Amino acid sequence: MTLPLPVVARIGAYALKKHISGAKYPMVLMLEPLLRCNLACPGCGKIDYPDPILNRRLSYQQCMDAIDECGAPAVSIAGGEPLLHKEMPKIVKGYIAKKKFVILCTNALLMKKKIDDYAPSQFFTWSIHLDGDRQMHDHAVDQTGTYDVAIEAIELAKAKGFRVQVNCTVFDGADPDRLAGFFDEMEKRGVEITLSPGYAYERAADKEHFLTRDRTKTFFREVFKKGNGAKKWKFTNSPLFLDFLAGNQTYECTPWSMPLRTVFGWQKPCYLVGEGYVDSFKELMEDTEWDDYGVGKYEKCSNCMVHCGFEGTAATDAIRHPLKMFNVNRRGVRTEGPMAPDIDISHARRAEDVHEVQVEKELAKIVADGGGGKRVQQVA
Ligand code: SF4
Ligand code: SF4
Repeated sequence: MTLPLPVVARIGAYALKKHISGAKYPMVLMLEPLLRCNLACPGCGKIDYPDPILNRRLSYQQCMDAIDECGAPAVSIAGGEPLLHKEMPKIVKGYIAKKKFVILCTNALLMKKKIDDYAPSQFFTWSIHLDGDRQMHDHAVDQTGTYDVAIEAIELAKAKGFRVQVNCTVFDGADPDRLAGFFDEMEKRGVEITLSPGYAYERAADKEHFLTRDRTKTFFREVFKKGNGAKKWKFTNSPLFLDFLAGNQTYECTPWSMPLRTVFGWQKPCYLVGEGYVDSFKELMEDTEWDDYGVGKYEKCSNCMVHCGFEGTAATDAIRHPLKMFNVNRRGVRTEGPMAPDIDISHARRAEDVHEVQVEKELAKIVADGGGGKRVQQVA
């Protein structure tokens, strides 16, 4: 990942210090300061809530408290669509003042209108949602024209001196040739890619088109083969995570490495699965039964290979085995030969449906707070 040197130095020093301490630690705070969006992608598991919840916002102070509580050196702001949040420029500025690396994830529909509310900084990057080429992306977000808007936004941001990357979620049925072609296009434009296989959120409208683990590994081998073991393209993902996607590593997830603070509180156990919420990061770390979650342990985890669960594992592996990472980086991801053994999922605990209960709880809180409340702001 070609981050500016001072940012790499800060994040590297933090990770090393924490690793030596032996404690569980977060690398990136995942922040969802609102769940409202101006798109309704069929694969989205974040927007299926009633209006009183979609109208909620984390305040500036709550966003600052979240990073102070967890201490992560970086924050990824998503949602919902963060550019709909009126305080977003102030929030980004607040994080940069704390020397936190800010990744602002957007579908780009509002970028042209709002870009001048932000200033380029070595601690700031736009992350544009782009799930492949024009046809793939417009299909994934179910709206024609969004690919062109995103490309225009990328060019605009680059022209204004911003750092820009794209976040690309890959769904089942994707064509390896087309995806490789899309990566070539991003390479030509000088844009880095954050890659993740789609996760079958319980609340996604379209759950059929998510990759299972076996298909994920075979698929990424096919894609990486077309790019010299992925060396041809620039990813923000670590080499060992890409190696994991191609079936060359047996990893368990590290869900606390990218903890989620959302309008409900801190989400247990991870960014993808919401089994409950607590008020503080301390409670999240101390009260979550971490051993109950992960591939092979819980049914909802069975097909998960997403970056927010496994990048932390790849990072720890890289600290423990720097030579292994160096070799993958130098030779590229292996796309032939036997795959690493996978975790047995046949005894995973049955999934529990907790969504409706949580929504009821949150709605009751909104009523009890008179629409305001301690946790979040209520906006019209
Ligand atoms: S743009 Fe992102 S948050 Fe909005 S609906 Fe699509 S996936 Fe969900
Ligand atoms: S395997 Fe389960 S607990 Fe781990 S990141 Fe994926 S969904 Fe979360």
